[in-house]
Amino acid sequence: MLSYRHAFHAGNHADVLKHLVLVQLTQYLGQKEKPFWVVDTHAGAGAYALDSAQAGKLQEYRDGVARLWERKDLPPALAEYLAFVRRMNPTGGLKAYPGSPFFALWTLREQDRLRLFELHSKDARLLAGNFESAGKQVIVAPADGFAGLKAVLPPPTRRGLVLIDPSYEEKQDYDRVIRALKDALERFSGGVYALWYPQLTRIESHELPARLKRVSDKWLHVALRVRTPAKDGFGMHGSGMFVINPPWTLHETLAEVMPYLVSVLGTDAGAGYVLERSEDAGK
Ligand code: SAM
Repeated sequence: MLSYRHAFHAGNHADVLKHLVLVQLTQYLGQKEKPFWVVDTHAGAGAYALDSAQAGKLQEYRDGVARLWERKDLPPALAEYLAFVRRMNPTGGLKAYPGSPFFALWTLREQDRLRLFELHSKDARLLAGNFESAGKQVIVAPADGFAGLKAVLPPPTRRGLVLIDPSYEEKQDYDRVIRALKDALERFSGGVYALWYPQLTRIESHELPARLKRVSDKWLHVALRVRTPAKDGFGMHGSGMFVINPPWTLHETLAEVMPYLVSVLGTDAGAGYVLERSEDAGK
């Protein structure tokens, strides 16, 4: 039984990093005319009201997207990301936050396709409702995204991005993501893969980046730590995105954005970032 609901966390520092990278990846794929697919294996509900009982309870967005909302000095890539958040907030105030499916949809052209998987029955219903009017460009499956991924790869157009964004509420997710990536690369070696992971004090989280680096020889790893890990080991102090077959422009873009994110989203002296790529590893 799944208990994680993304509504409690929507717009937090981890969403900022994840959705910033997602927008960069889909926009890059859109630079060539040939159609592409986006597969979101853990799609969530698609959109979140920030004044809902769930989001309002933890108010995580206040230390995330809300810290960027009024800024006038955003680096271009963050401004692009924030323009999509504004699209869900046409009246000016920050009241709602789009999930990964909307960030993806808004960057697609008519010829591109979006495939969404969500296992939690309530969130899957909300997701289907949010994309009811999207037509045949979007297919929502209330199903296991790891299994679903096998069925949709390779996409018929042989171009695509896969976002894998589990909640890691089950420890097995750390093994599942490795297996899913290995399997997906066998089916579709040229795909772009973006995996999100939380920085926690648990050993599985700590070991994941090193395990991911062994899955492929073309990767980029970015992580944002917003605070010193808590002494009691509780809570998430940061998160990372691991991208396989990244666009060559991504490293340069993130090199500009990450110091800015640390200065705006960091909450103590333990804040910092990691930005590394396969080309430089071992140098
Ligand atoms: N990708 C979303 C976004 O960025 O807006 C957030 C996703 S949230 C971190 C993880 C989601 O995965 C939750 O909604 C959870 O119900 C769902 N989930 C958990 N296990 C799953 C599985 N095996 N297949 C598909 N969805 C799953």
